[in-house]
Amino acid sequence: MAGAPRILLVEDLPANVLIAQHFLEEFGFAHDLATNGQQALDRILAGEEFDAILMDVQMPVMDGREATRRIRAFERETGGTANQIIAITAHAMAKDREECFEAGMDDYITKPFDGRVLEQKLVRAIAIRRKSENRFLGDVSVSDIHTQQAPTSDSAVGSTN
Ligand SMILES: [Mg+2]
Repeated sequence: MAGAPRILLVEDLPANVLIAQHFLEEFGFAHDLATNGQQALDRILAGEEFDAILMDVQMPVMDGREATRRIRAFERETGGTANQIIAITAHAMAKDREECFEAGMDDYITKPFDGRVLEQKLVRAIAIRRKSENRFLGDVSVSDIHTQQAPTSDSAVGSTN
């Protein structure tokens, strides 16, 4: 996967979706939305690929931990590149973090989001994912990730004729 990072945002509460989308747009990351774990799982089972998954924990239909367990089972079956799954947790308690890691999540971020922390965690996850995807093709640098920043304008063009 090359080009702008593509994030799967999995979150059921509209207010949290808006906040997360605001940050993702600010970072220049493309994103798709799933509003419960089942929707997220279905997309992964269908073969869709994302640079990172931001996964809320408490959701209707299927919670984030169960979705993560099933995504990990799918990865084991298919031998595909591991998804980078960052839990969105409501609590900063050690027990909540432990349960996320036990379910197979890679990292976590607590609500309300700190934009800088969210960006750091996403950039790190994207770098890990892209590096493992490219393990047969050579390295990818972290600087390749921010590809959507506007190119610097060339002020000399067309100004002298
Ligand atoms: Mg929720």
